[in-house]
Amino acid sequence: MPAVGHFDLAMCFKWLLNLVCLSVLLAVIAFGFARQPVLAKHVAANWTGNFSPCERHSELLKRDTMSLGVRISTSNLELAKQFESALSFWATVVDMAWYEDETTSCAVQLVEATPSILKSPIVARAQLAELANFQGWIAFDSHAPLTKGEMYVIAVHEIGHMLGLRHNPNTNSVMYYFNVMGPQVLDRSDLWQLSFRHKLRFASIDAPVVVPENQLGD
Ligand SMILES: [Zn+2]
Repeated sequence: MPAVGHFDLAMCFKWLLNLVCLSVLLAVIAFGFARQPVLAKHVAANWTGNFSPCERHSELLKRDTMSLGVRISTSNLELAKQFESALSFWATVVDMAWYEDETTSCAVQLVEATPSILKSPIVARAQLAELANFQGWIAFDSHAPLTKGEMYVIAVHEIGHMLGLRHNPNTNSVMYYFNVMGPQVLDRSDLWQLSFRHKLRFASIDAPVVVPENQLGD
């Protein structure tokens, strides 16, 4: 006759061990979920500096028509001119208009770079709208030995970053990692990316947009 209620110590220990393992696993998952909101709140921050604020920088986050007051805070008049030409180029691509605004009600500001913002050989750097502390600042090394054309193309590139574009591995794109010579475009990938944030002035993104070369080589 088999023993009723036979107590198997080894089996009991095995079940107990499984129960402990399961509890630890559930505790780890619960801890992970509890931590998630804290991690989600942690957004990388932009570079910063001792510059006057641009109180209307949120204009750059608008999908519809942007009206951008632009403050030029550089002593390099040629750089200021090329930066303004670059803004005018962008106004032909996205639904935006810009005007000079030398007050804190600006949306974009060209500022003099400091060594803590730029590491050589980088000559310009834009703040990114999706990062914390966004102020609409684009820092430029106004003493860098650049031609007018290089200033123009670099300004187009940096304003592109500010409008939400990332680097593009296509060497013909003005959003390529480095400044390269020759004709440059906004390709389908650039335009597609841009269309998520801003209203484009084109019905189709299939044809590349050529960055005018009128300033190049000067
Ligand atoms: Zn870049």
